[in-house]
Amino acid sequence: MGKRNSILLLGIITIVIMISAQVIIIRGVWKQKDEMLYLRYRSLSQEAVASLRGQRSIDVYDTVRFVLNKYSEQLVSDLSKIKDRQEIMNKRQEILDYFSKVLNQEQDLSGFLSTYFEKMGFEKDFKHTIEINYLNIIDQDTLQIYQGESFFSRRAPAADSGPLSTILVYWYHLEDNNYSLGFDYKIDFSDKQKMILKETATSLGMSIFSILVVVTIFIITYKNLKEEKRLSNLKTDFINNITHELKTPLSTITVAGKTLEMEQIRSSEQKTIETAKLIGKQSVHLNQLINMMLEITMLERTQFQLEKKSTEIEELISDIIDSFIQGGGNGAKINKHLDLNGVQADIDTIYFTTMLNNLLSNAVKYSDKDPVIEIDGYVNDKRIVIRVTDNGIGIHKSDQKHIFDKFYRASTGNIHKYKGLGLGLYYVKKIAEAHGGDVTLSSRPDKGSTFTVTIPC
Ligand code: ADP
Repeated sequence: MGKRNSILLLGIITIVIMISAQVIIIRGVWKQKDEMLYLRYRSLSQEAVASLRGQRSIDVYDTVRFVLNKYSEQLVSDLSKIKDRQEIMNKRQEILDYFSKVLNQEQDLSGFLSTYFEKMGFEKDFKHTIEINYLNIIDQDTLQIYQGESFFSRRAPAADSGPLSTILVYWYHLEDNNYSLGFDYKIDFSDKQKMILKETATSLGMSIFSILVVVTIFIITYKNLKEEKRLSNLKTDFINNITHELKTPLSTITVAGKTLEMEQIRSSEQKTIETAKLIGKQSVHLNQLINMMLEITMLERTQFQLEKKSTEIEELISDIIDSFIQGGGNGAKINKHLDLNGVQADIDTIYFTTMLNNLLSNAVKYSDKDPVIEIDGYVNDKRIVIRVTDNGIGIHKSDQKHIFDKFYRASTGNIHKYKGLGLGLYYVKKIAEAHGGDVTLSSRPDKGSTFTVTIPC
């Protein structure tokens, strides 16, 4: 496994462990707060009920008693008219529902508790539930309407072990002439999560923040590592390419030197001159390569030292194209569309020529059919725009964002088919920037590329 992968794995494991630890801690804190709130509200509601019982003047079930009393009186008289037992049984659910409804709607305990909680500085919103445990209608004999199962298994309210959001506040027994009724009054804090969230907000925020910081640092570190790796790969490729480039003229010179040693060559003056010329040509090439390497090293340390002077730009571009064609141009057809007559710009003609030459030679080099190059030149918004469009192999989207990087060569396509060092476009960009301008690319694989240089005028 590569170093980068193991770092990635290690980072991910660390982050997962950290997040799990934080989640465990937060869950612990949450549970603790949950329990605390439960206990707090339970004791508070019990306190409230105790205080209520102390105040004889307030009976929160006054209305309930009144309504149920009237209802049960009427019920008893109605029931006495029903002879069929089954019919009475059928009415049970209806009776139970009515009792339940009255208990829920007419009691004042919820209002009392709410005011009490608020007075003590706590959250006053909650939902109440009333569960009837038993209900008997009392006539000559007792008619059992409902008998809950759980009632007998429970001894006291404190023994309630429901979910932590439901608090059994009290269980009641109400009795009047014609009914006896037992029920539980419970409260439920639907907003409890919100309350806990409010109380744990700071620690929660800190946890999330620290996780974010760690994740961000990790991502940055990883990205840097990846970038370093990419650059080191580019350098290795460059060294391989330059070695290859240097070897070709060198071996030609070596072979030519050996040839000159041969008697039959030296005896022919023409052959000797030809071989000497070959050596000369290859030496020039070697020299160019070495100069280029020196230039790169120089560039690393200093910026371009431009010698700018006001130049007639259309004339210069035309000259560059002409000498490109004269110098071979590999049979490229170049179409000029220049609309820069009389436009002057402050430029360094030598660097500018290198820039345009690099674009032209790439347009020819990266083509697998007869190269046709369109050159457009015009002024737009006080800037000179020069566009070099070719009908070459084009550049993949994934390569486009790196194409102006030093030593970068497109990985797609056969890289060895086209020789190069990955410096041409790097120079183009540097030169354009040194003139206060820029260069952009738009390209589609197999269709061609357009490089657009803009410089101020
Ligand atoms: P080199 O040509 O020495 O490889 P450059 O910096 O000039 O270096 O170009 C970088 C890469 O961009 C090339 O390797 C090539 O893949 C791609 N490229 C440059 N110009 C063109 C073009 N006109 N058409 C297609 N690909 C191009």
